[in-house]
Amino acid sequence: MNQRALWRRASLRALAFFAIGYALGLLFGRPWIVATAALFLLLVVGTWQVYRLSHWLDDIDSPPPEASGLWGQLFNQIRLIQARNREEQGLLSGALDYLRDSLKSMRDAAVIVNTNGYVVWMNASAEQMLGLEQHGGVGSSLIELVPFSEFAKYLSAQDYHRPLRIDPKEKDDPSLLVEISTFGEGDRLVFLRDITEHFRLEKMRKDFVANVSHELRTPLTVLKGYTETLLTLDEELTGKIHKPISQMEMQVNRMEVLVRDLLWLSRIESVEPGEKTGSVNMQGLLEEVAHYLGPVWPEREIVLECSETGDVRGDFMELQSAVSNLIINALKYSDPKHPVQVKWFEGADHKLMLEVSDRGEGIAPEHLPRLTERFYRVEKSRSQQTGGTGLGLAIVKHVAAGHQAELQIESELEKGSTFRLVFANSTFNAA
Ligand code: ADP
Repeated sequence: MNQRALWRRASLRALAFFAIGYALGLLFGRPWIVATAALFLLLVVGTWQVYRLSHWLDDIDSPPPEASGLWGQLFNQIRLIQARNREEQGLLSGALDYLRDSLKSMRDAAVIVNTNGYVVWMNASAEQMLGLEQHGGVGSSLIELVPFSEFAKYLSAQDYHRPLRIDPKEKDDPSLLVEISTFGEGDRLVFLRDITEHFRLEKMRKDFVANVSHELRTPLTVLKGYTETLLTLDEELTGKIHKPISQMEMQVNRMEVLVRDLLWLSRIESVEPGEKTGSVNMQGLLEEVAHYLGPVWPEREIVLECSETGDVRGDFMELQSAVSNLIINALKYSDPKHPVQVKWFEGADHKLMLEVSDRGEGIAPEHLPRLTERFYRVEKSRSQQTGGTGLGLAIVKHVAAGHQAELQIESELEKGSTFRLVFANSTFNAA
């Protein structure tokens, strides 16, 4: 029976009680009193059902009280809602267990901290990494458990777009990678990964490249000296070997540039962003670069547009090498008819931007993601002709990272390219 019919039946029953009471009352000459007594009886029955309902709600897991009509329907509905809730609860707690199990079994340390930075939960890897007994860290401040100043700064800065890498300060310190995501009302899930081995290998690679480049410098200088001397000799004396010697000189020069760029890259990689405390006036730097490139590219025009006068916190030499690489690339890979545009301005979100645009050959989209890799070239033969080493954009990328700037590249084939360095607000110095 549907709800409406049940309500109709209950109303009719109340009416019938009243009518029968009233009719019986007529027999005794007190119709209103007997009718009211009949309605009171109905009220007592209702109160009894409410009592049974409240008794059942105290122990909701027991079967509902037996009842028919409207009360039976009500008990049944409550039982159905209860069953549905229980099913949803089961599903939710299953999902929660599943999530917790997956976090528990992770090799990375996973920690949940509340808005105030206190640990709410952590997995076994976190306890092990932080040297804690079981559940020893719950309730503690995570900043105290991970006592690195850069971590404290990162956790409180609330900007978790990029992961944080904590490099070892002492020989036996670990190297950590930290990733944080926020959820709920300010709670945070913190992942800590031990990358000490990765850091050690990376350091070995950097040291190796730096050492090899350094060691190559002396033999190269000797070779260069000899080829130059040979080329100054009378052609009659050198005769047939004049051409191979010229080629040797060209290749020695190329190697010299390569070694210079590799050493420069090693130096940039080894300087931490925090160590760059200089103040660089970008307008002055750009004017200087344009000034010394002018005589090298006399037929080309470099148009400078500086609408920003603020300084940038950083290293003059590094920024100069990044800017030079971008401008030289624009000159190398563009049509000599068009000037190269260099802009220094304040862009979106008050971020300072350096933009180098050319109307040159452009770069196909599939090359863009790999462009800043060492030795990656779009067309090997052409960049060798232009004297490139394939390290220019790798240098730009590392200089950008060291100055908390992002390198953005936009390019369209046959139309040209724009290379943009977008500096984070924290890189500014008050002018
Ligand atoms: P390279 O020394 O070969 O110029 P880079 O690292 O500076 O090395 O650049 C990598 C490659 O990116 C270049 O070989 C070239 O193919 C491409 N490239 C860089 N800048 C531009 C540009 N402005 N226009 C077109 N292609 C470019």
